[in-house]
Amino acid sequence: MKLVELPMGLRRYVKDISRELGEEIIFLGDPVYGSCHLYEEIADFLGLEEIIHYSHTPFYTPNKRVVFKVNQLSYSEDVFSIIEEEIRSESGKVGVITNAQFLKLAYEVKKRFKDRVELKRGRLARGLGQVLGCDFSAARVESRKLIFLGDGLFHPIGARISTGKEVLSLNPVTCEQINVEKEAERFLKMRFHSIFRAKRSNSFGVILGAMRGQFRMRDFQMSVRLLQEEGKEVFRIVSKVISPEIIEEFGLDCYVICACPRIVDEQPRFKKPLITPRELEIAFGRRDEYVMDEISEVEW
Ligand code: SF4
Repeated sequence: MKLVELPMGLRRYVKDISRELGEEIIFLGDPVYGSCHLYEEIADFLGLEEIIHYSHTPFYTPNKRVVFKVNQLSYSEDVFSIIEEEIRSESGKVGVITNAQFLKLAYEVKKRFKDRVELKRGRLARGLGQVLGCDFSAARVESRKLIFLGDGLFHPIGARISTGKEVLSLNPVTCEQINVEKEAERFLKMRFHSIFRAKRSNSFGVILGAMRGQFRMRDFQMSVRLLQEEGKEVFRIVSKVISPEIIEEFGLDCYVICACPRIVDEQPRFKKPLITPRELEIAFGRRDEYVMDEISEVEW
């Protein structure tokens, strides 16, 4: 038997996936947000040798055999003429970044436009040009402008803030184009509101991610130390899942998330402020400029 891990969007295709795999499988019910979430201990508990993980590329080297299944989505051919126009308007190169679902397209863009396109491999994400919500290093190229191929705004906003470059988000299916400048401003406004609330808080929960790819012990220890130095009440929490139902029962003023950096984008769902370790540094005067929180220390 094999353990099958599906992200939320694919769970409704459970019948098709069962037919496709055609073998004895058991589906994981717990949430799967990235390949930082490989439930190896559940596979061990069940005595299973293999995990089949959908939609994400490898992140760290697992102990078990894991088959990563990432479908490449089909796209409109108009994408190439839009990119060509962007390239023409630039004197230098244009950087291309993407998510796991459009890695083949990014490679095709590089093949067509050759030296006019920059495609870089990041630190954690393994695909060329691939960015993750916790790793924007593939966006740190020489080009002045970046084109993000994909949907959703978190990745292009993160690339904009972490590089300072102009970012055009291009949906390869619908060809919708968004210059993410305004969205980045909106994101920063939300983040500084949480930082402001953190400054006025007295009791803090510092949450260490319990998934192997989110286990950020150094940031956790740094955050606890900083808050102790500031004379705050500090409570250490370790958790696999961070949701309002689980966290807000602790009844503290503010939570520092030493886990997936993307969780703070969920702020509207939480009553209390959530901040990243980098934002904690800003709140207490240890850092001047805003930076996206990225997983930089490989501690697992
Ligand atoms: S830590 Fe967060 S952003 Fe990074 S791979 Fe996991 S779910 Fe995605």
